[in-house]
Amino acid sequence: MHVLVLGAGVVGITTAYALAEAGARVTVIDRRSGPAQETSAANGGHLSASQARPWATPAVPRQLVKWLGRPDAPLRLPLARWDPELWRWGMRYLRNCTPARYRANAQSLLSLAQLSSDALEDIVASSGVEFDHHTGGLLHLNRSAKSLDRAQRDTERLLVGADLLTAEECARIEPALASAGARGLIAGGLLYRDASTGDAAKFTAALAAASAHRQVAFRYDTEVDRIEVASRTATGVHTAAGLEAADAIVVALGMGSRALLAPLGIDLPLYPVKGYSITLPASPAEPRLPRIGIIDDDRKVVFARFGTTLRGAGTAEFAGFDTRIDDRRVRPILAAAQELFPGPFDGATAADANAWTGLRPMTPDGPPILGAAPGVAGLFLNTGHGPLGWTLAAGSARILADLVHERTPPLDPAPYSVARFHAQ
Ligand SMILES: Cc1cc2nc3c(=O)[nH]c(=O)nc-3n(C[C@H](O)[C@H](O)[C@H](O)COP(=O)(O)OP(=O)(O)OC[C@H]3O[C@@H](n4cnc5c(N)ncnc54)[C@H](O)[C@@H]3O)c2cc1C
Repeated sequence: MHVLVLGAGVVGITTAYALAEAGARVTVIDRRSGPAQETSAANGGHLSASQARPWATPAVPRQLVKWLGRPDAPLRLPLARWDPELWRWGMRYLRNCTPARYRANAQSLLSLAQLSSDALEDIVASSGVEFDHHTGGLLHLNRSAKSLDRAQRDTERLLVGADLLTAEECARIEPALASAGARGLIAGGLLYRDASTGDAAKFTAALAAASAHRQVAFRYDTEVDRIEVASRTATGVHTAAGLEAADAIVVALGMGSRALLAPLGIDLPLYPVKGYSITLPASPAEPRLPRIGIIDDDRKVVFARFGTTLRGAGTAEFAGFDTRIDDRRVRPILAAAQELFPGPFDGATAADANAWTGLRPMTPDGPPILGAAPGVAGLFLNTGHGPLGWTLAAGSARILADLVHERTPPLDPAPYSVARFHAQ
C-alpha cells in the first residue's frame, strides 16, 4: 500500500513513521525544504496529558472582557478587523465554553494525550531518536494565592493528578526558582509528575531521518496544489511535478489543511491562532537555568530547557495568516523569563531573544480532527492540533495508521471525527 502523507510537521512525520511501522510504503510531501519548518519549528516543548485541556473554558467569556484592549494581554482579538471566518469560528468556540462541553472536550483530549504518552515511548524505543527529552515532570507556578486556588480546583475537577506545593517546595524541586521565591513572586505551584519536555523540531527531524530507513520517501520544496478525486475516491495529489498517485492520502498540513480540502466540499473549522516563542542561549556552565518544564500561569508563558538554551512560549493572537514578529508581544515573554530566572538573561532585549511565531491550527472545541474524510474514500485527516500538537502527535499517528490499515484503533475515533461539527 502506498500512502501519501501531506505535511512534514510533527504530526505528518509521526504519522509517516507509524504508517511505515505498520507496513505501508509512504511518501511525505511538504512545501518547505525540510521537516518541522512551520508551527512545529520552535514551540513550547511541553508534553503533558494533564495540561491537555481545551481553550474553550467556562471562564473565557469573563476573561475576554478583562483582556480587551490591553496590548500585553495573553489573548488578543482584532475587533477592528472584519473576518467572517473568525466570527464563524468564534461563535462555535463560545458554544463550547459551557461546563458540560468543557468536560467532554477535556476528556477527549486527556484520553488522546495519555495514548500519545505511551505511543511516544514506543517510538523512542523503536527509533532511538534523541530530542533533549526531560522526564522530570512539569511545575505549574502561580504568582497569587487566588490563581493557585483556581488552578488546583481545575485540576481536581478534571481528575488530573498533581501535588500542591508551597513556594519553598517549588524552589526545592527547581533550585533556579530560589531567587523568584525569595522575592515573593511565587505563591505556590502544582507538580505534574507524569509530564515532560522535549524539542519538537529536533524530534521531528530525527524521526524523519529514522523513517528514511523504513520505506519513507520525502519530497520537499513541493507545494500540494490539489487532491485528485475520481469516483468519490482520492487517487493522488497534483504538484508542480505532476500527479503523484497513491492508495491513501493523509492530510497533516496544519493550517494549510483548510485551503486544500475546501474545493472538495470539506469544511474544516480551523482558525490560525498566532503564538510567539523566544529561545535564549546561556553559557554551557550556567547553573541558574531551570531543568524542569515550567508553566507561569499568571503570565500565560511556558518554559522548557533544551541543552543550554531556555525556550519561552506564549500569547494567542487572532491575526489571520500574518506571522510577522511584533516586539510588543516578545517583551512580556522575555520579561517573565528575566523575572523568574534572574542572572543569565539580564539585559537581554527582544532583539537577542531569537523570537519566532507560529500558527496553531485551532479547532473551536479543542480536540484535533482525526479519521476518514467525509464522502471521499481513501482520504484521511490528521490536523487541527492547536496548542497541543507535540503532546498529541504520537497518539494521533497511531489512530491514523490503524484507520488507514482498517484495524480497530486503541481509542474510539468518533470524538475526533470532523462529523462532530455538524452538531455544533
Ligand atoms: C507558540 C507556540 C507554542 C506551542 N507550544 C506547544 C507545547 O508546548 N506543547 C504542544 O504539545 N504543542 C505546542 N504548540 C502546538 C504545536 O506546535 C502544533 O500543534 C504543531 O506544531 C502542529 O503540527 P502540524 O504538523 O499539524 O503542523 P505544522 O508543523 O505547521 O506542519 C504542517 C506542514 O504542512 C506544510 N504545508 C502546508 N500547506 C501545504 C501545501 N499546500 N503543500 C505542501 N506543504 C504544505 C507546511 O510547510 C508544514 O511543514 C505550540 C504552538 C505555538 C505556536
